[in-house]
Amino acid sequence: MDLGIKGKRALVCASSKGLGRGCAEALAEAGVNLVMNARGAEALEAASAEIRAKYGVEVTTVAADITSDAGRQQVLEAAGQVDILVTNAGGPPPGMWSDWDREDFIKALDGNMLTPIALMKALLPGMMDRGWGRVVNITSQSVKAPIGVLGLSNSARAGLTGYVAGTSRQVAPKGVTINNMLPGIHATDRAIALDGGVATQKGISVEEAAAERAATIPVRRYGTAEEFGAMCAFLCSQHAGFVVGQNILLDGGAVNSTL
Ligand code: NAP
Repeated sequence: MDLGIKGKRALVCASSKGLGRGCAEALAEAGVNLVMNARGAEALEAASAEIRAKYGVEVTTVAADITSDAGRQQVLEAAGQVDILVTNAGGPPPGMWSDWDREDFIKALDGNMLTPIALMKALLPGMMDRGWGRVVNITSQSVKAPIGVLGLSNSARAGLTGYVAGTSRQVAPKGVTINNMLPGIHATDRAIALDGGVATQKGISVEEAAAERAATIPVRRYGTAEEFGAMCAFLCSQHAGFVVGQNILLDGGAVNSTL
């Protein structure tokens, strides 16, 4: 399927690895020029070089912490005018509901709620002026079904979801759509790190911890960054102009709900 977005320009945050990288690859495959970001320059340069070589698109890189004011400013300056924004950042650490203080919440809100909001606030006006734009926020299945040890993530991402629900309806008349993608367990460094924590806690191997988690998913495996990226590219395509303010769950059926 021709996604109809060849030649567009996308800012894909936190995209040297994992789900962000999957989104960057799928957009590049559709002919979209990229601005890629991550904190670590080495992995970012390696990822951008591979994407340039494979898809022949322009790739600009900005090594910066997207959750800091200075980092965001650097990224936005380098990005300039973009048609597509994919927001992403690392997730907050796991723990117990009784562990977290105000500062922990402020950090989680900054990373997973206020950063995507600041990026949207900066880039939506240009998209609206030009009459076309796509925003996809990477959130989590924890928005639909809370994950006990990820209370910081449950809280911050729920806040972003509320903001998107209201804002997406206000920008839609100008040809701009905002939607969220909710990953369940995907085979990325983040998932492996979480498996490591479970393995230590239970005194089992990381492979055993991963097999236990996979067994809880109806498709009996982790998702892939490629599958995730393909959905992102579709939501950013010309074909998805009627999809507004939705929360798309990619979880292999793990969240057991009717709607
Ligand atoms: P990942 O494999 O650890 O990759 C994270 C990517 O983001 C890396 O490129 C990393 O590069 C970059 N990054 C992290 N923090 C950043 C920051 N502050 N500024 C700029 N770049 C940053 O993670 P993932 O599994 O793709 O997860 C992506 C998001 O989805 C996270 O918020 C995670 O909580 C959420 N999620 C993931 C899963 C899953 O199963 N994988 C499930 C639910 C939700 P640097 O470290 O070099 O910055």
